Amino acid sequence: MTLLEQPVVLLPARATTFTVLCSICIQDDPEEFLAATVTGSIRLDATHGSAVCPRGHELRIERALEHSPRHPSCSS
Ligand SMILES: [Zn+2]
Repeated sequence: MTLLEQPVVLLPARATTFTVLCSICIQDDPEEFLAATVTGSIRLDATHGSAVCPRGHELRIERALEHSPRHPSCSS
C-alpha cells in the first residue's frame, strides 16, 4: 500500500473518540459496511493519529484545526 492510498479521516477539532468506516473495505465490498467499522480514540492535544480497521487497513486520523475561532459574544 502506498501513502497515497491510505485513507484519511478528518475529525472535528474537539473529538476524542471516533467511529469511522474503512473506505478500502467499503470499496471492496459495499454490503459489508458493518465489518468496516473502525473505532478509536485520540488525545485532545494530538493533531493526528492512526487506526487499523478489522481487516488490517491503516487509516490516517487528522484533526481538523480551528483556523478561525468565532466569538459571537464579541460581535457587538
Ligand atoms: Zn479496511
